[in-house]
Amino acid sequence: MKPQGTEIPSELCRLSASGQETLRHYDDRVAMLLRHAGNAVVPAMWEKQRSLPAAFLTHLNKAFLVYDQSLRFVQSQLHQAGWFVTCAPGCSHCCTQLPSGLTGVEILYLYHGAYRAGIVDRMFRRCMERLELWEEICRWDPRDLVQASLEHNLVQRLHRYHALKVPCPFLEAGLCSLYRYRPLACRIHFSLSPPHWCRPDHFQNAHAVRFNLEPSPHVMKALERLDQVLHLDLSDLLVCGFVEYVVNVMAFRPIGWMENLR
Ligand code: SF4
Repeated sequence: MKPQGTEIPSELCRLSASGQETLRHYDDRVAMLLRHAGNAVVPAMWEKQRSLPAAFLTHLNKAFLVYDQSLRFVQSQLHQAGWFVTCAPGCSHCCTQLPSGLTGVEILYLYHGAYRAGIVDRMFRRCMERLELWEEICRWDPRDLVQASLEHNLVQRLHRYHALKVPCPFLEAGLCSLYRYRPLACRIHFSLSPPHWCRPDHFQNAHAVRFNLEPSPHVMKALERLDQVLHLDLSDLLVCGFVEYVVNVMAFRPIGWMENLR
């Protein structure tokens, strides 16, 4: 989840029947690839050695690629309706938010990317710093007492975190160092207004037109099933989930990618 702006383009709710059919087709493919990834897991190898078949990674890579294609398709539909997504490389205002709603397998994918890039230790330290900040924000706050819902409190805390303008641990010189492995929460967030309006302290920020192209329940279910297969029960906040995964699941070891496990 990333905070949204004031207006969601109505064209998104009015995709043509063929457009909706195309989107369903993409969703089905993503869900199928995630199912294939789950079917490839050999539980004993994962539990005892933290090893996964190379086929698992192949299916996961493809699932994210197809998901990105579906996002580009929706962007093209928006474009035809006269809406232009203004997000571009080098703009990272939304990377001062704290991505939430992550599944465990998305954190596993980030960890794999960090390991490949040789930056696990550095990213872990940075995540720990952000985690301390988050815990500080979550400490007793009198404003929480007047709010009824936990969901509302969480959103308020995420806003407070964003207002601090702390860059995501994975952000390097304005670019995501794990772009290929970034979670859905980062892939689905778009802006249609001038990029600088996304700065939390910009006077037009409240009027920025930002929206999330939420994954379908079909895709979410497939991701959650993967979490069950892998017994991943992590915090859904990026920095907290990453720290938990590094320490409790992997103990700083690499994932073993095994060929021809079956
Ligand atoms: S994971 Fe990457 S895209 Fe997502 S908030 Fe962090 S730097 Fe930005």
